[in-house]
Amino acid sequence: MEHVVDGTVAGGPGLAGRPRRLVPLVLGWEPIPESISLRGGDPSRFLLEPVTAVVVVFDHGWVLVDGGFNLDRVRDPEARAAHYEYESYTAVVPPGDALAGGVAAAGLAWEDLALCALSHVHLDHTGGLRLVPAGTPVTMQRREWDWLRSGIGRRETVVVDDVLGADVRVLLLDGDTELAPGLTALDTRGHTPGHQSFRVDLPDRTVVLACDAADLERNLTERTPCGWVGVSGDEADAQRSIDRLADLADEPGTEVWPGHDPEWGPWRR
Ligand SMILES: [Zn+2]
Repeated sequence: MEHVVDGTVAGGPGLAGRPRRLVPLVLGWEPIPESISLRGGDPSRFLLEPVTAVVVVFDHGWVLVDGGFNLDRVRDPEARAAHYEYESYTAVVPPGDALAGGVAAAGLAWEDLALCALSHVHLDHTGGLRLVPAGTPVTMQRREWDWLRSGIGRRETVVVDDVLGADVRVLLLDGDTELAPGLTALDTRGHTPGHQSFRVDLPDRTVVLACDAADLERNLTERTPCGWVGVSGDEADAQRSIDRLADLADEPGTEVWPGHDPEWGPWRR
């Protein structure tokens, strides 16, 4: 059962200090035409793109940014046929549970998870909620929540029950919001109506997790958004968001990580 509350989570329980390190996770793969990830790209050239998540480790507690596919559904033939396999799309997941394994390998415990931050509600981002302890705060933009609830996003690419069926506490944000010292949600709408990215100020550098506002490094270097928006008419928003992220990438000491780039270093390690 979901329980919606408003308000910020800065200084919330379970999280103390500042971000100390990031743990990049590759949780699966998906074949995506270049034209989906890059406006003007080749529709017949497919990229095998990583499905990614990032753990932000604080002095005390940690935050999960996105969570890949819901493995229980991907491995259920009926759910798989309904959501994860159509036309030229298929969900590719490694054996086992890459999210559970990645969290354990990082030396983290789920009871210390202070917050799950969702960039948006596409099905390759919402599956981690299955592992989140009951009552954990989950944050997204109010615009994304409204889109999810309106049914517009339900026809494809969204598994509504991943979010609405999770026993979590939903925190709705209105635009840029400091989630905790050193961790800020950035409004990067366009890919979906309430897409958000995350700025993480680490001791030695700033990392901006673009998530799906920039699938590929080329989106940033060419200031060209992805070739697909959840709601037609949002193309100008997507352009504004990629310009915002490209400006951040130009700042000294700031890295912007594209969410689905197979060649991006942190996803290849
Ligand atoms: Zn997406």
